Amino acid sequence: MKRFDAINRIAEVLTEELVICNIGIPSKELYHLRDRPQNFYMMGSMGLASSIALGLAISQPRKKVWCIDGDGSILMNLGSLSTIANVNPSNLILIVIDNESYGSTGDQYTHTHNNTNLEIIAEGAGFKSIVKITKGEKIKNILRDLGKGCHFVLIKTKPGSALVNNIPLKPIEIKNRFMQSFTKN
Ligand SMILES: [Mg+2]
Repeated sequence: MKRFDAINRIAEVLTEELVICNIGIPSKELYHLRDRPQNFYMMGSMGLASSIALGLAISQPRKKVWCIDGDGSILMNLGSLSTIANVNPSNLILIVIDNESYGSTGDQYTHTHNNTNLEIIAEGAGFKSIVKITKGEKIKNILRDLGKGCHFVLIKTKPGSALVNNIPLKPIEIKNRFMQSFTKN
């Protein structure tokens, strides 16, 4: 399984969830697989998808918020894990797709390829609900079955990215349609 396969399975179970997606190719892959107004393709702030998702979960407590993050990005912002675990919102799923590489810059190894274990880091940060997935066919059922809570979902994949086009939306367009997708209701 590569990240594209994991995002494909995540995209297939989305209903009304608000999704904050990691910078770079992950967002392009999600756009290619299933574009929707409730997707926020985060551009320009590597490492901050999880922080944005936390803020959104706090400000929209009746909405389900999913963050699709990556190993390289979460390693840039490890403090976010302890903040999220201590705020402990009941409506947030932080999905980290760990392909052990910086996929958007040429698949250079990250530290998870060697000694660093994000599952243990999440536990130490204080997450009470941690799921590790290594088989793609389990992704949909696990995500469907997660109830209310603050969940850390680690999906281990192989490196490599799909050949997908750039997102043909300006950042302001992404932001505006995203905000309209849940403030209209
Ligand atoms: Mg990665």
